[in-house]
Amino acid sequence: MTYSHNEQPENTILENIVGPVSLPLKIDESVNYFQLHYFECQGKRWACATLGDLHSMQAVPLRIESACFFGHVMHSQQCDCGFQLDEAFRRIARNKGGVVIYGIDQDARGLGIEKHFRIYDYRQNENLDTDEIYKRFHAPLDSRSYEAVTAILHFLGIHNILLMSNNQERLAFLRKQGFQVERDEIEAPLTQYNMATMMLEKEDLNYQWSFHTHGDWLLPLQQQAEEHPDCYVACVVKDNREIVADWMGESWDVATSLLAKLSDSNNRVENGLAVYLSDLPRLDELALYAKAGVSFVVVPFPVLPDYLKAEARRLGIRLQDWGRENKYKQPRPQWILEEHSDSQHIYIREGERRVIRLNHGGIV
Ligand SMILES: [Zn+2]
Repeated sequence: MTYSHNEQPENTILENIVGPVSLPLKIDESVNYFQLHYFECQGKRWACATLGDLHSMQAVPLRIESACFFGHVMHSQQCDCGFQLDEAFRRIARNKGGVVIYGIDQDARGLGIEKHFRIYDYRQNENLDTDEIYKRFHAPLDSRSYEAVTAILHFLGIHNILLMSNNQERLAFLRKQGFQVERDEIEAPLTQYNMATMMLEKEDLNYQWSFHTHGDWLLPLQQQAEEHPDCYVACVVKDNREIVADWMGESWDVATSLLAKLSDSNNRVENGLAVYLSDLPRLDELALYAKAGVSFVVVPFPVLPDYLKAEARRLGIRLQDWGRENKYKQPRPQWILEEHSDSQHIYIREGERRVIRLNHGGIV
């Protein structure tokens, strides 16, 4: 289908429009011919793909997709971008109509592909948090602009939209621009790979994901720990949905006490268990969690000691730092491993010393 160009407003900000070009796209097992356009707008490149007679639809299914080299091209499982785009095309094919608008230069929420690589590099090799990385770039967490989207929708002659998104701000933006917009929720299943990225989106960018974040589980533990500074607080959460065991006490045998409650509660121990702790675990406790089938151990600190990270890696469990919104009001000193041998571990906290005898158990 072609569009009559007199539908465009006179003052369109789109430049260098190319198309339509017709391309057969494979979605699941069927092949559909989509019409593609290329645009430039305020120095950024955009494309759109449409299927069906958009003017005959009551509300046009629309996905606004920001480029993600990792998710869309490399099929990285660490973000949900690949799922979102594929799912949008599946829904459009099923509906026999709809639009995908693609921001070619919008990698890393508008910073471009080079910065996207740098983010992964800083995160993995320098242990920086997303917040810190964007500060280092002197850039806001989201510097995308959607004026081009408005112009492309006008170009296509679309007014009524079914927006496939969980991003409230995008919905509000389109409504403010005068479009009639309903929302069609689109949410990737949470996996051990995409969990951290998606939880950050919920906490930092207010995405309307249906799941809880690590912060949701940690904050109540931290509040309890602040009310009872001598106590350790811990819980086990199953499939990010329900607490299946919890424990609070002064004993430093947190893992043993917590896991005893887990077997008491008659829960079948399976993968998908996450342990949330008010304080850093002892080195020897990680093995107990691993043996109990725990996949995640989450603590409310931005930086973790290397000895814990290395042990978690060795045991195949994920030790997750989650220290952004859930900082303790008062600094909460932690027991840090000072010396270790095969028979004992020595921990220090503010001049105090504790020895864990590994063969006999028990704290000296
Ligand atoms: Zn992505």
